[in-house]
Amino acid sequence: MENCLFCKIAAGEIPSNKLYEDDQILAFHDIDPQAPVHFLVIPKQHVDSAACLEETDSALVGHIFAVIARLCKELGCEDGYRVVTNVGEDGGQSVKHLHFHVLAKRSLAWPPG
Ligand code: AMP
Ligand code: ZN
Repeated sequence: MENCLFCKIAAGEIPSNKLYEDDQILAFHDIDPQAPVHFLVIPKQHVDSAACLEETDSALVGHIFAVIARLCKELGCEDGYRVVTNVGEDGGQSVKHLHFHVLAKRSLAWPPG
Protein backbone atom coordinates (compact mmCIF):
# COMPACT_ATOMS: atom_id res chain seq x y z
CA MET A 1 0.00 0.00 0.00
CA GLU A 2 1.29 3.43 -0.95
CA ASN A 3 2.58 5.65 1.84
CA CYS A 4 2.43 2.88 4.42
CA LEU A 5 5.51 2.92 6.66
CA PHE A 6 5.49 -0.82 7.36
CA CYS A 7 4.90 -1.73 3.69
CA LYS A 8 8.03 0.32 2.96
CA ILE A 9 9.95 -1.47 5.72
CA ALA A 10 8.70 -4.85 4.38
CA ALA A 11 9.90 -3.89 0.90
CA GLY A 12 13.30 -2.80 2.25
CA GLU A 13 12.71 0.80 1.10
CA ILE A 14 13.10 2.00 4.70
CA PRO A 15 15.76 0.26 6.81
CA SER A 16 14.92 -1.69 9.93
CA ASN A 17 16.83 -3.61 12.54
CA LYS A 18 15.74 -7.05 11.36
CA LEU A 19 15.44 -10.11 13.55
CA TYR A 20 13.74 -12.51 11.16
CA GLU A 21 12.37 -12.50 7.64
CA ASP A 22 10.72 -14.96 5.29
CA ASP A 23 8.44 -14.65 2.28
CA GLN A 24 5.39 -13.87 4.43
CA ILE A 25 6.53 -11.95 7.49
CA LEU A 26 9.19 -9.68 8.95
CA ALA A 27 10.28 -9.19 12.57
CA PHE A 28 12.28 -6.10 13.51
CA HIS A 29 13.21 -4.17 16.65
CA ASP A 30 10.88 -1.32 17.62
CA ILE A 31 12.52 2.07 17.08
CA ASP A 32 11.23 3.28 20.47
CA PRO A 33 11.51 0.23 22.73
CA GLN A 34 9.22 0.06 25.75
CA ALA A 35 11.04 -2.91 27.30
CA PRO A 36 14.55 -4.39 27.08
CA VAL A 37 13.16 -6.66 24.34
CA HIS A 38 10.60 -4.98 22.09
CA PHE A 39 10.19 -6.12 18.53
CA LEU A 40 7.39 -6.00 15.98
CA VAL A 41 6.17 -8.73 13.66
CA ILE A 42 4.32 -7.77 10.49
CA PRO A 43 2.87 -9.56 7.51
CA LYS A 44 4.61 -8.37 4.34
CA GLN A 45 1.25 -8.06 2.64
CA HIS A 46 -0.67 -5.02 3.81
CA VAL A 47 -3.48 -5.62 6.32
CA ASP A 48 -4.90 -2.54 8.08
CA SER A 49 -5.22 -4.13 11.51
CA ALA A 50 -6.35 -7.24 13.37
CA ALA A 51 -9.90 -6.03 12.79
CA CYS A 52 -9.48 -7.04 9.12
CA LEU A 53 -8.35 -10.61 9.80
CA GLU A 54 -10.52 -13.41 8.46
CA GLU A 55 -10.65 -17.21 8.82
CA THR A 56 -8.48 -17.49 5.71
CA ASP A 57 -5.67 -15.68 7.58
CA SER A 58 -5.41 -18.40 10.23
CA ALA A 59 -2.23 -19.95 8.77
CA LEU A 60 -0.54 -16.54 8.63
CA VAL A 61 -1.46 -15.71 12.23
CA GLY A 62 -0.35 -19.16 13.40
CA HIS A 63 2.94 -18.69 11.60
CA ILE A 64 3.45 -15.29 13.23
CA PHE A 65 2.89 -16.75 16.72
CA ALA A 66 5.18 -19.72 16.03
CA VAL A 67 7.96 -17.34 14.91
CA ILE A 68 7.38 -15.16 17.98
CA ALA A 69 7.75 -18.22 20.22
CA ARG A 70 10.97 -19.21 18.46
CA LEU A 71 12.46 -15.70 18.58
CA CYS A 72 11.58 -15.31 22.26
CA LYS A 73 13.32 -18.60 22.99
CA GLU A 74 16.39 -17.47 21.04
CA LEU A 75 16.41 -14.14 22.87
CA GLY A 76 16.27 -15.86 26.25
CA CYS A 77 12.83 -14.65 27.28
CA GLU A 78 12.24 -17.70 29.46
CA ASP A 79 10.53 -15.60 32.17
CA GLY A 80 7.74 -14.71 29.75
CA TYR A 81 6.71 -12.11 27.26
CA ARG A 82 3.69 -10.18 26.07
CA VAL A 83 2.23 -10.06 22.56
CA VAL A 84 0.02 -7.04 21.82
CA THR A 85 -1.71 -5.79 18.72
CA ASN A 86 -3.30 -2.36 18.94
CA VAL A 87 -6.41 -1.77 16.85
CA GLY A 88 -7.79 1.63 15.89
CA GLU A 89 -7.80 4.88 17.79
CA ASP A 90 -8.97 3.60 21.17
CA GLY A 91 -6.56 0.68 20.87
CA GLY A 92 -3.67 3.12 20.39
CA GLN A 93 -2.75 2.03 16.86
CA SER A 94 -0.48 4.63 15.27
CA VAL A 95 0.74 2.66 12.23
CA LYS A 96 -2.16 1.36 10.14
CA HIS A 97 -0.49 -1.88 9.06
CA LEU A 98 -1.10 -4.97 11.20
CA HIS A 99 1.74 -5.53 13.65
CA PHE A 100 2.27 -7.56 16.78
CA HIS A 101 4.36 -6.00 19.53
CA VAL A 102 6.47 -8.45 21.52
CA LEU A 103 7.72 -7.13 24.87
CA ALA A 104 9.96 -8.95 27.32
CA LYS A 105 12.70 -8.85 29.94
CA ARG A 106 10.87 -6.70 32.44
CA SER A 107 7.82 -7.27 34.59
CA LEU A 108 4.87 -5.87 32.63
CA ALA A 109 1.96 -4.27 34.45
CA TRP A 110 -1.64 -5.38 34.03
CA PRO A 111 -4.05 -3.93 33.09
CA PRO A 112 -2.31 -1.79 30.47
CA GLY A 113 -3.10 1.94 30.49
P1 AMP B 1 1.30 1.17 17.36
O1 AMP B 1 1.27 2.44 18.16
O2 AMP B 1 0.71 -0.01 18.04
O3 AMP B 1 0.72 1.40 15.97
O4 AMP B 1 2.82 0.80 17.19
C1 AMP B 1 3.65 1.33 16.21
C2 AMP B 1 5.06 1.05 16.65
O5 AMP B 1 5.91 1.25 15.55
C3 AMP B 1 5.56 1.97 17.77
O6 AMP B 1 5.95 1.18 18.89
C4 AMP B 1 6.74 2.70 17.13
O7 AMP B 1 7.80 2.94 18.04
C5 AMP B 1 7.13 1.73 16.03
N1 AMP B 1 7.82 2.33 14.90
C6 AMP B 1 7.48 3.45 14.22
N2 AMP B 1 8.35 3.68 13.22
C7 AMP B 1 9.25 2.66 13.25
C8 AMP B 1 10.40 2.33 12.48
N3 AMP B 1 10.80 3.08 11.43
N4 AMP B 1 11.11 1.22 12.82
C9 AMP B 1 10.73 0.47 13.87
N5 AMP B 1 9.64 0.72 14.63
C10 AMP B 1 8.92 1.81 14.33
ZN1 ZN C 1 1.22 -1.48 4.83
